[in-house]
Amino acid sequence: MQAGLEHIRDWFKGELLFHEPLARHVSLKVGGPVDLLAIPDSREELQRLVALLDQQQIPRFVLGGGFNLLPSDAGFRGCAISLKRINRLQLDNTVVTIEAGASNQSLARAVAELGLSGVEFLIGIPGSVGGAVRMNAGAHGSDIFSVVKTVTLLDQGQFRELPREQLTYGYRCFEMPGNSVIIAVTLQLTEDSLQAVRSRMEEQLGLRWATQNVKFPNAGSFFKNPPGESAWRLIDQAGLRGFSIGNAQVSDVHTNFLINRGNATAADFRALAAAVKERVKATSGIELEEEVQLLDSGECGQ
Ligand SMILES: Cc1cc2nc3c(=O)[nH]c(=O)nc-3n(C[C@H](O)[C@H](O)[C@H](O)COP(=O)(O)OP(=O)(O)OC[C@H]3O[C@@H](n4cnc5c(N)ncnc54)[C@H](O)[C@@H]3O)c2cc1C
Repeated sequence: MQAGLEHIRDWFKGELLFHEPLARHVSLKVGGPVDLLAIPDSREELQRLVALLDQQQIPRFVLGGGFNLLPSDAGFRGCAISLKRINRLQLDNTVVTIEAGASNQSLARAVAELGLSGVEFLIGIPGSVGGAVRMNAGAHGSDIFSVVKTVTLLDQGQFRELPREQLTYGYRCFEMPGNSVIIAVTLQLTEDSLQAVRSRMEEQLGLRWATQNVKFPNAGSFFKNPPGESAWRLIDQAGLRGFSIGNAQVSDVHTNFLINRGNATAADFRALAAAVKERVKATSGIELEEEVQLLDSGECGQ
């Protein structure tokens, strides 16, 4: 049992998984054990858990679907929190409020069935709504912040609902205050016919199959597109299509996807990402920046 959490079982009704391998929870299929993966049942339980962790100075992070996360082989000394049981959806005409643990697909499908448009692009983006807000996920010219009205955060022990005007966000990024947790998001959608919304979702999925038919574990685009450029093109021009280190490889289907050819380690991915950045810098002068979030182990010196 992690020191400081000896009595957690007395009150925590959700699920507690000790020494849980992160590789089971991230799409790259790498990463050592986290001391504790906690899955609270309710917002109140989450609030109490976060207060306890912070009081005991136990490092924490939120694990969404793990589709944009590269942990380390050492795992994480502290607590991962999954909000997957905090996933309710509420509707008020064309305004939908959805909790962070819901999946993008459940959101996209639920509002489509109601003839509401605005998040069709989410159908093809794997992960949780919280992860989509954190990353300002988007595709084909749309992103989630285009339809955000408010974001509810757990910040310094309190739930706070903040309007979009008070939030700082940009391409694949949302600057969250401190170590806050995204609890829910309210989206302003527009009415449309069920058929039109469905056909736009099909179109999104079709575009994806055409360009991203990558058959190995991956985390989607590994690097952000530099302004006016495509990361995949720069990587291709650097001659890195199919380049590998250990069992991590630059996909030969989509060069901005780094894939796990089987038994790759997190270290293989980190070394491959570093090599890609170095070669792209040498050939184009452009510094690529990771879109995938690198999670350090929390150990001293990491
Ligand atoms: C095949 C494939 C295709 C993809 N295509 C796209 C695409 O088209 N567009 C795109 O934008 N992305 C794409 N991605 C990347 C990924 O799906 C998105 O970034 C997604 O939003 C990640 O959500 P997640 O729940 O998996 O987050 P995770 O990977 O679990 O977490 C990502 C980051 O968000 C933080 N986080 C998650 N939830 C919360 C929360 N509630 N509160 C605070 N912090 C939180 C985590 O701590 C971490 O730092 C793709 C990935 C794959 C594998």
